[in-house]
Amino acid sequence: MVHNFNAGPSILPKEVFQQAAEAVLNYNGSGLSILELGHRTASFEAVMNEARALVKELMQLDDQHEVLFLHGGASTQFMQVPMNLLDDKETAAYADTGVWGTKAIKEAKLFGKVEVVCTGKESNYTIIPKDFAVPNDATYFHITTNNTIYGSQWQKIPYTSIPLVADMSSDIFSRVIDFNRFDLIYAGAQKNMGPAGVNLVVVKKSILGKIKRTIPTIMDYRNHINEGSMLNTPPVFSVFVCMLTLRWLKAQGGVAAIEKLNEAKATLLYNEIDSNPFFRGTVDKADRSKMNVCFVMNDPTLEKSFLSLTKEKNIIGIEGHRLVGGFRASLYNALPISSVTVLVDAMKEFAAAHA
Ligand SMILES: *Cc1c(COP(=O)(O)O)cnc(C)c1O
Repeated sequence: MVHNFNAGPSILPKEVFQQAAEAVLNYNGSGLSILELGHRTASFEAVMNEARALVKELMQLDDQHEVLFLHGGASTQFMQVPMNLLDDKETAAYADTGVWGTKAIKEAKLFGKVEVVCTGKESNYTIIPKDFAVPNDATYFHITTNNTIYGSQWQKIPYTSIPLVADMSSDIFSRVIDFNRFDLIYAGAQKNMGPAGVNLVVVKKSILGKIKRTIPTIMDYRNHINEGSMLNTPPVFSVFVCMLTLRWLKAQGGVAAIEKLNEAKATLLYNEIDSNPFFRGTVDKADRSKMNVCFVMNDPTLEKSFLSLTKEKNIIGIEGHRLVGGFRASLYNALPISSVTVLVDAMKEFAAAHA
């Protein structure tokens, strides 16, 4: 068995792969592949409707929030958000908590003014900033709820009186949050939800239509809402696999149940990092991510040797991002706790052998 700690694209439930593979050959006994169905057929419309309904149910969204599945990665939303929400004379507030936040800021500046209200840059993004003010005349406030590369996460969401926009690509559906308090949420699918190539966008209708700019048809969220997320051909296979993953999540007991499991996985690994003399975490304890666990070795010359031990144990994808070095273990929803135990045992074994 392979233990897949990849940061993204990443592990999905085995049964989802099984069902997706069957549907590629013969969808629902139709004799057709899911890949050759017209997107306007009743069969595919049922998929899109169920996927959207499952998002609403699992996130417990109210009727003011619309659910869309749109083309492109989360990086597309870095520009589509300000294109739809920010006039060129207005200012948006952004929190800079890592690589993805920085990239979102760069794109927003193409459409209007940006005030970076806090940054973790001086500490190489090992903390989530605490004391900062968000101007209450800013058009919206943008945060990245989980910083996939540096391994930090907002444990307490910084709600303010202005509309809140969040990139939740790497912790969507991993923990209970009051999603209705957000005006716009987006997430690339490939971290916790499905295959790459589709974005989930949850948007409160009332924040749209307030700017003067002419928005290209395909970029305007309102057109997608009006067409039930079928303005053009959606990424049908990606949406289908997202639907299967959301069904799986519901069968596990939903977000609250998976959150418990995610906490158990993160606690198991962080406890080992904190007690094993060979390792240390890179992020302030209070701000550690439960999805992406970043750690290094106290003696970096041993890292190669630890990595080869983990390879022997079929542990995949724990090399750290090049900006951080060391290791990163991503503990997404579909990763079983037994895989974390295998990693923790490898760390113990390494420590014993080198003591
Ligand atoms: C992976 C990731 C992205 C980028 O997603 P793409 O699909 O590659 O555009 C953006 N934000 C966060 C938080 C991510 O984890």
